[in-house]
Amino acid sequence: MSPISMSYLGIPGYVIFWVLFALAVGLFLRRMYQLLRYMLLGQSVGGFGHLVKRVSSTIVRVFGQWCQLQNLTAKNRASLGHVFMAWGFFIFIPFYLIFIIIGGGLGLSETLEHTSFFFYYAWVMDIAAPFIMLGALWAIIRRYVIRPPRLKGEQTFEALVILVTVFIHPLTHLFKEATGIALGYAPVGLGTHLPPISQALSNLFDGASQSSIQAANTAFFWAHWGFVLFVLVFIAYSRYLHMIASMFNVLLQSPPPKGALRPIDLEKAESFGAAKITDFNRKQLLDLYSCVIYGQCQEVCPATASGKALNPKKLIDDLKEHLLTEGPGLLKGGAPAKAMIGEVITQEVIWACTTCRACQEACPVAVEHVEKIIDMRRNLVMEQASIPETAEGALRSIEDRGHPWRGTTLSRTDWAKGLEIKVLADDKDVDILFWVGCTGALEERSTQISRATAKLLKAAGVNFGILGTEESCCGEPARRLGNEYLFQMQAEKNIGLLKNYGVKRIVTACPHGYHTLKNEYPQFGGKFEVIHHTQLIARLIKEGKLKVNNSLSELVTYHDACYLGRYNDIYQPPRRLVKAIPGIKMVEMERNKENSFCCGGGGGHMWLEEHEGRRIN
Ligand code: SF4
Ligand code: SF4
Repeated sequence: MSPISMSYLGIPGYVIFWVLFALAVGLFLRRMYQLLRYMLLGQSVGGFGHLVKRVSSTIVRVFGQWCQLQNLTAKNRASLGHVFMAWGFFIFIPFYLIFIIIGGGLGLSETLEHTSFFFYYAWVMDIAAPFIMLGALWAIIRRYVIRPPRLKGEQTFEALVILVTVFIHPLTHLFKEATGIALGYAPVGLGTHLPPISQALSNLFDGASQSSIQAANTAFFWAHWGFVLFVLVFIAYSRYLHMIASMFNVLLQSPPPKGALRPIDLEKAESFGAAKITDFNRKQLLDLYSCVIYGQCQEVCPATASGKALNPKKLIDDLKEHLLTEGPGLLKGGAPAKAMIGEVITQEVIWACTTCRACQEACPVAVEHVEKIIDMRRNLVMEQASIPETAEGALRSIEDRGHPWRGTTLSRTDWAKGLEIKVLADDKDVDILFWVGCTGALEERSTQISRATAKLLKAAGVNFGILGTEESCCGEPARRLGNEYLFQMQAEKNIGLLKNYGVKRIVTACPHGYHTLKNEYPQFGGKFEVIHHTQLIARLIKEGKLKVNNSLSELVTYHDACYLGRYNDIYQPPRRLVKAIPGIKMVEMERNKENSFCCGGGGGHMWLEEHEGRRIN
């Protein structure tokens, strides 16, 4: 007899089941409602769009566990445990839903249990159960025995409770099934081909009396469902909330293009950036609920690695604690007890970020760290006029001279002397504009890149020109340093100029300029075809318009710039160029492509002093 159809002290099993179920679901929904209300305190996100992309990304990242699988290497099998547990649960959860929806608690499940569908499903669950147990066991060993630096401070009682529960839960399932088989409740379908593990375990009950097997079956049934309902409540009230929130977080992740910062409507905005937790938008708050706290982000962060105050995992965790602590008061209309900037997140943390995006690329659940940091910078700079001195000097230089390089003695066109390059003011009949950028024009060493690029374009017969003295900073440093007003001023000025000359295509050597012109200028009506010089030169070589005649016997490596690689997925063209030179031996850096280590200059850090820890570069 199914344990649910029995009576316990005169109370029908299904009554007990539904009371427990209602209690657990009630507690779960109460917490979800509370968290939803906190989240709705945030600002509206606006449109989402890209539904197909979002859904496919959710399937790949959440259900496929793609990020965890990508992290798997011969040396690092840490994420294997998570993959086993996640996949296992994705197999078990539909069963519970079917059980509940079809009326398991009313005894209707017995009908279900005798269908072929259930028979095959039982097989799949039977195989999945030991994998979940292995995953949980591996996670317990890593966290409590091996203790890698990433999990420092994560040996909490809460973590132990959930991991032990995750370990025991499939065990109770296997024994529930095993005792069921021993009692002769084998599902129909493939006759004697019963789920192998449960069947093997059922042999343990050979020789036991029917009544004791029935008692064991009853105990395992209730224990199993007890764990299911306990986990439902526990995850809602613990740090394991990510098991629910992360799915929605991936689905609602910021739309492409990657890494394009949200513009502020300067005319309508009443305040700038984020000073309070409720200044973040709802997706940014959902991020906080979704963090898996395994710290992939902190492992790849150059700021953390070089001893700065910033740790992206801690940033998210601290903001989450702040939201949960302040939430009840905020719902009643009160002011937060603690200042988010200063008391929860220090200015050192906010200024330590190079916006390299390594954290976001590594995050399995689409937590977006960079935009939160920039939002806090926006508030510091635009509302509180608080900015490190050197960065302030760079911003003032952009305002006064149109570039951030204060000490330069070069003019915008010195680098081009003797190359006879068209300037659009004299002749705008060009196929492509070479956007030189402030660094390429004014930083002495970088001018060599501009000269080399121009020479190659000329050698290939490309009809190009430059803006010369009319070129002004694209505004990227201003935007990353939090001065959105200055960025928008620069963007609008440049877009006006480019449109005036009828520019359609732009080539640039600067990864930051490339990202800004390509992905952020469209926010202000500047839609141009933007290509990186490595893409164009690789194409010219492929088309035979550029020939590499000399060989070079050198050992060469290539460093992936964050704004070219992680931001724009340009990994191969630069490598193709290096490899096109005969005699060159190319080796990869230990950290390369998506995992490339930041040079330390992004996010306005070219103009910020590094006082803490070691230098990133
Ligand atoms: S963007 Fe880079 S520097 Fe900033 S928190 Fe992420 S990994 Fe660290
Ligand atoms: S933010 Fe992402 S990568 Fe960092 S700990 Fe949370 S889930 Fe992991």
